[in-house]
Amino acid sequence: MTDCIGVTPEGKSCPAPAVGDSEYCFFHDPEKIAQAQAARIRGGLARRVSPTTDYPGAVENVTQLMKFLNRALEESWALEGSEKRLRAVAQFLRIAVDVVGLADLNARLELLEGLIYASNKDVGKQN
Ligand SMILES: [Zn+2]
Repeated sequence: MTDCIGVTPEGKSCPAPAVGDSEYCFFHDPEKIAQAQAARIRGGLARRVSPTTDYPGAVENVTQLMKFLNRALEESWALEGSEKRLRAVAQFLRIAVDVVGLADLNARLELLEGLIYASNKDVGKQN
């Protein structure tokens, strides 16, 4: 088994073994680099979503807002990895946490209002 004829980023000879008939290791083989790049491009295109063809629609309630947020999250996630993408995803998650928390509080408040209303009716019956 011979060593790869590639050069490391530090300018040293690559210590990895050459793969198969190639004079290069897996990471330095120009043919494999091209294949890997093509696969990444195909993967990126497959993950990309069209923002105009599948508009999530009007936002008039929590369910629709969550659908909209999830769509925005999905589109942000499909972007190429970057600090900008992470910021966008974090921002949408922050909004989603607020929306879910408010919806939960609202549900608990409605329950309490219902209990208060019911107990007031009971008090009215006793008099
Ligand atoms: Zn190598």
